[in-house]
Amino acid sequence: MCGIVAYVGCQDAYPLIIKGLKRLEYRGYDSAGIALSNSQGVSIFKTQGNVSKLQEYISTKDSSGLIGIGHTRWATHGAPNKVNAHPHISGDGKLALVHNGIIENYDAIKKALTQKGHVFESNTDTEVLVHLIEEIKNHESVCLFEAVRIALNEVVGAYAIVVMEKGVDNEFIAARKGSPLVIGVGREEYYVASDA
Ligand code: GLU
Repeated sequence: MCGIVAYVGCQDAYPLIIKGLKRLEYRGYDSAGIALSNSQGVSIFKTQGNVSKLQEYISTKDSSGLIGIGHTRWATHGAPNKVNAHPHISGDGKLALVHNGIIENYDAIKKALTQKGHVFESNTDTEVLVHLIEEIKNHESVCLFEAVRIALNEVVGAYAIVVMEKGVDNEFIAARKGSPLVIGVGREEYYVASDA
């Protein structure tokens, strides 16, 4: 088990996500990461180890942004290290994704995507999913929501995911099947997390 915390709204996302990830520490994890979006683009921060270490790493960086996705990882595919930590990004760098669970047919999808020219950095099943979403989005010319929906129809396994897109700072896409994910609705703000 591991955890997801995402926020979009009118507050700074970073402190809310870090607080949420700390509250999810009881679930166990080996690494942590966060993606934040602001006018400068999407920043990805990842560390092996605990959330406090991630916090220390980010303390000297720009952590502004009204939207972000955070993750604590319990490695199932690939060693617990920085490269395999989430969020994972698409080949074009426009999508960032966090995932809890296992994509059972990731190997077949990875082979098909590799033949289409996709290059993978990590050993995770998760990175395959964000590349699949990218492939569908770009080649079927659909919006992110639709690309995620189509991609998940091709996936076998259990997942909770949140995906965000560079340049879109008021929306992320969340989905789940067999892994927990709850939605918190505030006033013009939304939270998504693995536990209430
Ligand atoms: N299967 C994914 C990985 O190994 C997600 C693991 C998790 O649920 O944290 O990165």
